Amino acid sequence: MRTVIIGAGIAGLAAAVRLAAQGHEVVVFESEEGPGGKLSEFPLGDYRFDLGPSLFTMPQYVDELFELAGEKPRDHFSYQRLPIVCNYFWEDGTRIHAHAAKEDFAKEVEEVLDVPANRITRILADAEKKYHVSGRTFLEKSLHKLSTWTNLEVLKALFKIPQLDLFRSMDAVHRRQLQHPKLVQLFNRFATYNGSNPYKAPGLLTIIPHFEHHFGAYLPDGGMYSISQSVYDLACRQGVKFHFNTKVDEILVSNGSANGVRTGNETHAFDQVVSNMDVFFTYRKLLPQQRQPERILAQQKSTSALIFYWGIKKTFPALNCHNILFSEDYPAEFAAMERGEMSNDPTVYINKTSHLVPGDAPEGCENWFVMINAPCDAGQDWQLLQQQTRERTIAKINNILGEDIEPLIEEEWVMTPPVIQTKTGSHLGSLYGTSSNSKMAAFMRHPNFSHRISNLFFVGGSVHPGGGIPLCLLSAKIMSEMVDNSH
Ligand SMILES: Cc1cc2nc3c(=O)[nH]c(=O)nc-3n(C[C@H](O)[C@H](O)[C@H](O)COP(=O)(O)OP(=O)(O)OC[C@H]3O[C@@H](n4cnc5c(N)ncnc54)[C@H](O)[C@@H]3O)c2cc1C
Repeated sequence: MRTVIIGAGIAGLAAAVRLAAQGHEVVVFESEEGPGGKLSEFPLGDYRFDLGPSLFTMPQYVDELFELAGEKPRDHFSYQRLPIVCNYFWEDGTRIHAHAAKEDFAKEVEEVLDVPANRITRILADAEKKYHVSGRTFLEKSLHKLSTWTNLEVLKALFKIPQLDLFRSMDAVHRRQLQHPKLVQLFNRFATYNGSNPYKAPGLLTIIPHFEHHFGAYLPDGGMYSISQSVYDLACRQGVKFHFNTKVDEILVSNGSANGVRTGNETHAFDQVVSNMDVFFTYRKLLPQQRQPERILAQQKSTSALIFYWGIKKTFPALNCHNILFSEDYPAEFAAMERGEMSNDPTVYINKTSHLVPGDAPEGCENWFVMINAPCDAGQDWQLLQQQTRERTIAKINNILGEDIEPLIEEEWVMTPPVIQTKTGSHLGSLYGTSSNSKMAAFMRHPNFSHRISNLFFVGGSVHPGGGIPLCLLSAKIMSEMVDNSH
């Protein structure tokens, strides 16, 4: 089987490894000059930055790719577990260190907020239960194949749907179980892990903390980009052929079957086509003559972001790898985004890898990836919003850290939602494909195959099971179980 993959994002790379291991001859066309897509890196002066993802969970899905190819993961890819998954800050001086170990986290919350520790251990146990009874089943299988629904494990999971809090919002579940406003805000923040709104997203999303506090949060030894780099190197060792700076302009379809791609004036024949490009642009740009799945393509997108990449010429020991500086009014912040606006008082996320990966910043300096949730691009005045948000962000950081950081910024680059779309091909700059704000979202994502065009498959954050590195890796797994492996 000759299979072509359009795009070398993490899902395209994982798909390449899996298909090569299944005996396919795999060719990847990527429009950028290197692999990784959103999971790439860039230098800024003497600093190194990861472009997009900063949080790495479920590393076993990466390890699995090496094992499939008969290699030992640790020979090629290493990472460390973070003992503290995030430092949380409020402007009234409250600080919580979210220890990875559940009991330590619960103890810290009890000490700082005077909330019984068992409220934390209980909600984390509940998240674990939800993950096992059903969440896992819906993430690891195609929801669009009859075989899934005749599987006994899935049928059992269906009967347990009432336990999944699908019909309450995530916020409602948290208010009922956690009660303390700061704790509710802290747990509501997990909705942003897939670009959703905690006041709309179903309570099923309360499984997300289970990923951090049970499976753990990690940082790869060379920074996040080493995930893409090591999977790319693995694919090369398996004989996958990569063509960079090569944009695919069309998916060739004949008699209802995909049979190749066109790049510029050249056509390339293949037996199967896998698109890792955002599904919206796959249809609009590569399949304009084919019937478009309009309802799927019109779904609400996940949030986008304004990101400031700052080289800071000082170190701040109060900051950990992941840090959240909360807004005063979380519901108002999400309400502003629903209106397509930026909040006047945004929650600020600061990630720095330099204290764990020393080469990422010069000595005595730090590489700050400062991300503010933003609505998707709808033609807003991003220059103005960027300038206003920069001022508000700096004011909040100054207040919380007790120091004026503006004179310490010696390098700066900014990504707005339109830049995210241009740089990564993500429709409207969304970070995670479609949002999970509706209880039917999991069932409404585009499947990993085409119902109308045979031999056409899809992987990546814009299709089932959704955005984020672990789910992108699972999309490649689900797809690889559907393709034709005959020779
Ligand atoms: C700012 C930001 C922060 C994030 N934070 C996290 C996080 O902390 N943790 C996490 O797990 N996830 C995070 N995510 C989400 C995560 O990055 C994505 O879900 C994931 O990387 C998407 O991978 P992908 O393979 O679907 O696609 P992409 O990375 O988007 O790759 C698609 C590739 O296709 C290529 N392409 C597009 N069109 C064509 C064409 N016509 N021809 C050839 N090639 C083409 C593109 O150049 C690109 O390389 C974040 C995303 C962003 C943007």
